[in-house]
Amino acid sequence: MVLFGPSGCGKEFYDEGHKSILEVPQWLKEYGLDAYEYSFGHGYQMSSELAVKAGELFKINDIKVSLHAPFYINFANPSEEMYMKTQGYIYTGIKFLRAFQADKLVFHPASCGKLNRKDALDLTKKRFEETFNKLDSEGLLDGLFLCPETMGKSMQIGTYNEVIDLCKVNSHLVPTFDFGHINSIEQGALKNKDSFKRILDYSIENLGFDKTNNCHIHFSKIQYGLKGEIKHLNYDDQMYGPEFDSLAEVLIDYNLSPRVICESMDQMPHDALIMKKIYHKILDKKIKL
Ligand SMILES: [Zn+2]
Repeated sequence: MVLFGPSGCGKEFYDEGHKSILEVPQWLKEYGLDAYEYSFGHGYQMSSELAVKAGELFKINDIKVSLHAPFYINFANPSEEMYMKTQGYIYTGIKFLRAFQADKLVFHPASCGKLNRKDALDLTKKRFEETFNKLDSEGLLDGLFLCPETMGKSMQIGTYNEVIDLCKVNSHLVPTFDFGHINSIEQGALKNKDSFKRILDYSIENLGFDKTNNCHIHFSKIQYGLKGEIKHLNYDDQMYGPEFDSLAEVLIDYNLSPRVICESMDQMPHDALIMKKIYHKILDKKIKL
């Protein structure tokens, strides 16, 4: 079964007077959602005690949790010192996964910086091998998925082909398909079932069904320009896409059960619920046929 949830609870949660992450699990459950992504995008600013308490409550309320690692991770920074920092952010992310009893760490793989794309990609791949195989051999990745994300800007490493290729390096690496990002990089190409099939077929061919089934999905509409992503929009936008219906149909046809996280501009829970309803409407129709 596909699970749906927001990345952060946004305005609605705070407008109702809620403040703490400890209030999120029950709030989401009552909202009708089943997953949540907590963002450490701007750093790991939480005590591990609070993470443990929150993790218990997410578990009691049957909400699956993913964490987003800091945005400043960059496996292609030529500086060894910065590479050590990147490894540290992954390591801390794993500690927080354990505290939350969560299983997926989403991260942005790399940015080209001054390197040409091929050199940046080669360096990223080499360091992926080094970092994740080491963590794996120490038993630190047991039961976990590390999820490099497809990115929305042309200078970032993270086309879907690149991410899928990087995920071959270790069995714990599975893609985060951010379809808003892919649509931005591809200038609005995600318009029908075939465009989503192209991506998931490539994943199944290269990583197999199980890894594709365990992939993480970010879905939101995103405004883009020639260099890709400009800004996240809400689901009611009619200009940029992508629409969720076609992806929902492919997920059902392929019998895939990923976690779908909505990263709308400011109404993530609201839009995650719209996607959940789209999915179940299509599913119910197919079951009746
Ligand atoms: Zn991200």
